[in-house]
Amino acid sequence: MHIEHMTAAQASAEIDALERDYTELGAKGLALDLTRGKPAGEQLDLASDLDGMLAGDYRAADGTDVRNYGGLVGLPEARALFGSLLGVPAEETLVGGNASLTLMYNVLDLAVNRGLRGADSAWRNSASMKFLCPVPGYDRHFTLCESLGIDMLPVPMLETGPDMDAVEALVDAHSDLRGIWCVPRFSNPTGCVYNDATVKRIAQLPNRASSDFIVMWDNAYAVHTLNEAAPELASIRTFCLDAGTLDHVFQFGSTSKITFAGAGVGYTASSVSNLAALQAHLGVQSISPDKVNQLRHVRLLPDRDAVIAHMASHRALLQPKFDAVLSGLEQGLGGRGMGTWTHPRGGYFVSFDSRPGLASGIVTLAADIGVKLTPAGATFPYGEDPSDCNIRLAPSYPSLQEVSETVTAFVVCVKLASLRQKLAQGATA
Ligand code: PLP
Repeated sequence: MHIEHMTAAQASAEIDALERDYTELGAKGLALDLTRGKPAGEQLDLASDLDGMLAGDYRAADGTDVRNYGGLVGLPEARALFGSLLGVPAEETLVGGNASLTLMYNVLDLAVNRGLRGADSAWRNSASMKFLCPVPGYDRHFTLCESLGIDMLPVPMLETGPDMDAVEALVDAHSDLRGIWCVPRFSNPTGCVYNDATVKRIAQLPNRASSDFIVMWDNAYAVHTLNEAAPELASIRTFCLDAGTLDHVFQFGSTSKITFAGAGVGYTASSVSNLAALQAHLGVQSISPDKVNQLRHVRLLPDRDAVIAHMASHRALLQPKFDAVLSGLEQGLGGRGMGTWTHPRGGYFVSFDSRPGLASGIVTLAADIGVKLTPAGATFPYGEDPSDCNIRLAPSYPSLQEVSETVTAFVVCVKLASLRQKLAQGATA
């Protein structure tokens, strides 16, 4: 029965039954963990051929010995491959080390401290700098901003992407806004794919913002579909060329969830002049990226088609886990008014919204019976979810059996928290 239609007596009776279920779950000594947005072992195994891939042949296509220093922008064939995943030409792509986050940090560090267009353009020259953060979003983006002293302004995420009316209003109102975070395809955590109108408006944003506004286009899940019918993402580059804003967009991606999460390849794409500035910045820290790993990747996955075929194997492993989450939520909570959740067609997460004020309590209830969930608030800047309702579920890493057990326990915690709140607020007699 829908929670809004329950009497106090009905709510109490259900709470009694749920408390028994909860005690039984507690007695099982569960040790479940739905916090880790990382590939499972079987997914990593799909790329095991990386080991030994080069078989002693360290020459890149142009004859470069990849074991040696040099080549800060990446191997030409790696630039072509990873550029094709972002839909940009090789010359607008820079291939780095094992993490796209490092590249994101470097872009922001460059913009804040040295200036993308020379020292006068450094953001730290101004009294304040702010970034737009669609929420719920990815906690590490927020950590990057915090570590560089960039203030964050949350903006609501819709099914079509960030609420662009709100985004544009904030850009008009705050001259110290320096950029926006975007995870445009299968966003973390809602899984939404930005629609074409949103992509176009984001590409046009730099024209109404301060002159050094940048879009951090983190396309971490560009090819990570869970469903053959997953929507495509429009090319931001094409819209930027129309709007004259290519200098204001940095795209990112990596093979962390294609090959090895800790030993993949990260890449970024932007205008040729931005990449030159970034290259100079990276050159202070390193003489070359790991080109051996870049070459291994190109040999394993020579082109975009090979990557897409490889991702179908990931999908076969991931889809049952997502199905288990969604069917468990539907069976336990469908029609009960105790929460809403997303139905992602790609990416790594399901985003759950409880009734307001309950997320932290649900996470604690789950923790007390051995079920670890992402801390409530983690999907918001400064860890502050004003409605205390969002919980990110990450089913990729545990086994299918563990995912099912976790969802069963999660549902009990959500029901218990919701009904107790209802009673506390005074149920209808
Ligand atoms: N960007 C997003 C949106 C992510 O969800 C993640 C990992 O969960 C990353 C970036 C991390 O990428 P990388 O391993 O390339 O640093």
